[in-house]
This record gives sequence, structure tokens and C-alpha cells, in this order.
Amino acid sequence: MSTSTPIIRPEWTKARRIVVKVGSALLVDRATGKLRQDWLDSLANDVARLSKAGKQLILVSSGSIALGRQLIPLPKGPLALEQSQAAAAVGQIGLAHAYQELFRARNLTAAQILLTLGDTEERRRYLNARQTMETLLAYGAIPVVNENDTVATSEIRYGDNDRLSARVASMMSADVLVLLSDIDGLYTAPPGTDPNAKRLDEVRAITPEIEAMAGDVGSELSRGGMKTKVEAGRIALAAGAHMVIASGKVLRPLAQLEEGAPCTWFIAQSDPVSARKRWISGQLEPKGSVWVDAGAEKALGQGKSLLPAGVTRVDGQFDRGDVVVIRSSEGREMGRGLIAYEAADAVRIIGKRSSEIADILGVEGRSALIHRDDMALARA
Ligand code: GLU
Repeated sequence: MSTSTPIIRPEWTKARRIVVKVGSALLVDRATGKLRQDWLDSLANDVARLSKAGKQLILVSSGSIALGRQLIPLPKGPLALEQSQAAAAVGQIGLAHAYQELFRARNLTAAQILLTLGDTEERRRYLNARQTMETLLAYGAIPVVNENDTVATSEIRYGDNDRLSARVASMMSADVLVLLSDIDGLYTAPPGTDPNAKRLDEVRAITPEIEAMAGDVGSELSRGGMKTKVEAGRIALAAGAHMVIASGKVLRPLAQLEEGAPCTWFIAQSDPVSARKRWISGQLEPKGSVWVDAGAEKALGQGKSLLPAGVTRVDGQFDRGDVVVIRSSEGREMGRGLIAYEAADAVRIIGKRSSEIADILGVEGRSALIHRDDMALARA
């Protein structure tokens, strides 16, 4: 923890994949209830410049409720769940349209992804959401994510996009998560009421002391206060993503961040790939095993994905997205991975070429049984 002068960070320079969370208070003008077009233009310029420089950007944008509630005659003040869901249904269209136009004008393609808690927490669905976003990024599109507020019910929703964006950063193995907010970082005390409050430049671990600093400074338009931001930090850091809380009240917020605007960096102690592999190898109960032949064993050693053709046997009852043990032909545990097929389908495609999968299963599937990004091999 330190409070010295801010500098441009190597974490930013090195970042290849960046998730940017945009809060409602930045997007929607409080007085008119309309989108803040100048600000959005400046954000889109930032995104276009970074994407031209080779960075992959994912936006997590709030604003559907704040925007939609102006368009149907909802009461002022706090909304009931069904009222905010109705507002979100109305507002999300406008939001998606705004991003489409903003990016189109800069020769970029916006892609809307609406997620529920289950899509990020259930492993089977998690793989689907991740694969879709990977594909979009590979084609150069900019995913614009929000919670699917119209269907998410109170018990099973995030409710705030701070934590949602951290889960997206973790799911996508992002290098950096930027929370653009109406406050420029984490303060030792609420800055509005305590004149001695100091902004921290850097946080290296979410300690009880840091948690205690996260008062509750949410505004009425946005859900997240500092508390959800610190929780987001915990999720991001565990996934090996650095997180930065920066002011979005300025124009060109990402350029300003690069130029050293005041902010708080939460520094992850490991990188996304090692964090993900550690998660795969350590925390989950394997549900089965796949046995590979000598050719596949060699290919895995060279960092390749595991194709059905190289598998001689599968054991266990597993679902798509479950963790299985990868075994050599002698039964030695080579590592673990998230399997892309459920057991019944896996049995049918092993030993076969990936091009035959569609004929065998009747549906187009993934070419790999376990993708290399979903695999943690023990060091030989
Ligand atoms: N998903 C909500 C919306 O689009 C916003 C949640 C938040 O403010 O963090 O309005």
C-alpha cells in the first residue's frame, strides 16, 4: 500500500486483454436521463485507439436501468425488482444501439452479451460464454457485456456490474480490469466526509484493513459502491488480473489513465494463465479420467490441445466443463483439464478425427476434447 505520486504502470503497457467497466452514473446524464454523448464519443475514441494498438477490449456497460426508467413512466426513487427489470428491457436496446453506432463510426463492431450469474458460475455455461467471447475477440469485435437484468431474479443476480466485470475478467483471463467510476480510487476513509481521507495508489492484497476502507459510496444511479469494487478486486486478483479504479468523470478516461491520472491499482501476484491453471489443478474434484496415447502425450508436452483422436479411453461420469484427470497410456497422472464434452458424447468420439465429430454426434462440436487453455499439466 502506498500513496506516492502516480506513474504510468507497466501493468497497463503489458496488458493485452483489458476489461473496462463503465458505470451508469457516467453514461446517463442525471438531469435529462439521456446518454452523455460527448463522453461516450471520447470513450469510443479511447477504445478504437487501444484496439488499433493491438489490445483486446471488452466493455462491461451498465446503464440499461438508468436509461430505461426515463422512457416508461416509472416512479422516481428506488424501483421494485420487476420495475427495474422492465426499465432494463427498455434501456438495454438504446444502450446496445448507442454502442453499435459509436463503434461503427470507428470501423469497429460491437457485440452484445447479456449474462446471468449462472452463465459465469456454472462451468458448462461458463465455457459457452467464454468461447463466444473468444470468437468475437478473434474476429476483432468488441464485446459489450451487461447483466441480463430482465430475467435475473434477486437471489441469483449480481445486481452490480463491479463484480460482474471482475467475473468477466476472470473468465476471459484478462490482464487488466478497469473500473471507471465517479470516484478516482480507493480512499482510506470516505473522501466526501473525511478531510483526512487519502487515495491509495496501490493495493497488493485485499486485507481486512482494505475491506474496512470500502465504505458505501454508491450513487442512486449505480448499484456499486466501494464495497462491491473491493469485492471485484478480490475476484480479479485471484484470477491473476490487475484491477484499477479510475475516474470516468473526465473525457478520454483511458487515455488519462495511461497519462497517469490519479487512480488506485490493485496488483495481482500472479498472471491469468498461472492463476487459471492453479484453479484447474487445485480446487476442483475431478469427475473422470481420459487416457491418451503416446502421440497425444507428446503433443500435450508441446503445448497442444487434446484432440479426440489421441484418446484411447475415458472413465467417469462428467458433464461438459467438468474437471477430468489426463492420464498417460501407463495411467500416470499428466495433469487435469476442463473437458468440452459430457461423458456419453466423449465415449463416442474418442479415437476419431475432429472432422468426424459432427457426423457422429449430429451436432457441430469443439474440435478439442480439452483445449490447451483449459489444461494444467504437471511438470514432467
Ligand atoms: N446492470 C445494471 C444496468 O444496466 C447496472 C448495475 C450497476 O449499476 O452496476 O442498469
